Amino acid sequence: AKAADRSSVHFFDPQMQVVASLRAAMRQDLYEALRNNQFQLYYQKQVDQHEQLIGVEALLRWAHPTKGFISPAQFIPLAEETGLIVPIGEWVLREACETLAQWASDPAKANLTMAVNISVVQFNKKDIVHTVLKALNASGAKPHNLKLEITESLLASDVENVKAKMLELQRHGVTFSIDDFGTGYSSLLYLKQLPIHQLKIDQSFVSDIIDSPNDQAIAQAVITLATAMHLSVIAEGVETEAQRAMLQGLGCDAYQGYLFGKPCALQDLFMGTQERRS
Ligand code: C2E
Ligand code: CA
Ligand code: CA
Ligand code: CA
Repeated sequence: AKAADRSSVHFFDPQMQVVASLRAAMRQDLYEALRNNQFQLYYQKQVDQHEQLIGVEALLRWAHPTKGFISPAQFIPLAEETGLIVPIGEWVLREACETLAQWASDPAKANLTMAVNISVVQFNKKDIVHTVLKALNASGAKPHNLKLEITESLLASDVENVKAKMLELQRHGVTFSIDDFGTGYSSLLYLKQLPIHQLKIDQSFVSDIIDSPNDQAIAQAVITLATAMHLSVIAEGVETEAQRAMLQGLGCDAYQGYLFGKPCALQDLFMGTQERRS
């Protein structure tokens, strides 16, 4: 390298530089991933009070050719910054709807709901309603089996715009769940104004619920709020029977977590029976 280049390097935090080049590499990798079908959907069960299967949540997985499976927590933020979340999210919707359509012909599966995570960046695109309806139409999946998981951060943006889109999708039968409820900027006012069907109690309130009176109080407050507003409420990250029992005591309707099954590939979803009580 030339001397000038080398000296200019000293103006940067070397650690920042490493981070920046890692991000640039990952950004390029994300493009490739989409083009080369490296994404995959995993599905995690959601059950009711009687532990009957009521649906699944679709969770994105990236099978990187050299780094193995990369968690969405690691690449979703970058995908959002680069806008790549839009085509990635479209792929997720198409794939999830195809799975739903497959289930439609099986009476045991036809009523299951498919929860799909929608990033704020994705929902704020002008044509999101069209994108969702297109995925439904192309697959033949029924809109009332599709549940979109949105976060509170969406409700902090242009609410009128968000509301119009939600109403349009609701008109077709699509439902909405507020993901990670209580971790963002909740406005109870929006809850009343928007067509929301479910609140999802975040894992962070569930993991210590047995030992934390504060977490118990938060879970209770969310459940009471949901019940008063005629919304359903599901707890995520339920790992133990004690957590499930406590949430049930508080009036929770539905559960999702390792206790009922880890996220898995479609072909493994209905395999075997629950090992949880053994
Ligand atoms: P999330 O929507 O809150 O999803 C729940 C996360 O908790 C998932 O992590 C799931 O695998 C994990 N989990 C489920 N049950 C348990 C449990 O009992 N114990 C523990 N410790 N963890 C549990 P995952 O799959 O790594 O996804 C992380 C986040 O990435 C998701 O959080 C969601 O925000 C985002 N994400 C995943 N798929 C998509 C997608 O298709 N689109 C968008 N925009 N975001 C996605
Ligand atoms: Ca979610
Ligand atoms: Ca969640
Ligand atoms: Ca969460």
